[in-house]
Amino acid sequence: MVIDEAYIDFAETESWLNVLNDYPNLVVTQTLSKAYGMAGIRLGICYASEEIITVLNRIKPPYNVNELTQQRALERLQKKEAIREEISEILRQKRTLMETLETLPFVNKVYNSEANFILARVDDANKRYQQLLDQKVVVRNRSNQPLCENTLRFTVGTQGENAMLISLLKKMD
Ligand SMILES: *Cc1c(COP(=O)(O)O)cnc(C)c1O
Repeated sequence: MVIDEAYIDFAETESWLNVLNDYPNLVVTQTLSKAYGMAGIRLGICYASEEIITVLNRIKPPYNVNELTQQRALERLQKKEAIREEISEILRQKRTLMETLETLPFVNKVYNSEANFILARVDDANKRYQQLLDQKVVVRNRSNQPLCENTLRFTVGTQGENAMLISLLKKMD
């Protein structure tokens, strides 16, 4: 059983790491690409029982994570306080963005989110997507996914990016 916890650092729910010892067949994966802001080094983390990790370690050597990636990851992982602060800032921005979306006349529903993005159902996703694109803001139009007709997904950015997005959204008609 593999549980992908790519967004766990933004989530209020507990990580499955807390019960890893209770399930010998459990594998939990996390990544440095999201909350740790290191998508460029493409590094993930795998947690599992000693038995499973032993098997993985046996096949890893010829394709191991490269040395430069390891160095950058270790540097980043030292900066626990900075990372915690960045995550809190993203969560603050997310609350602000959610509150704004909920007040907009063309937004019909804002879905709960445990990640650093927000899914919202709008009146006309293609139209709203294009309006934002015309202002150089790229969101994801998820309308082609089953059950997601007329939805847009907003990834939470920096305070500056968020402020710009909010001011554009408020002006849209
Ligand atoms: C980003 C992401 C990952 C991991 O991405 P990598 O850059 O390959 O580490 C895994 N699962 C989900 C759902 C993701 O969004």
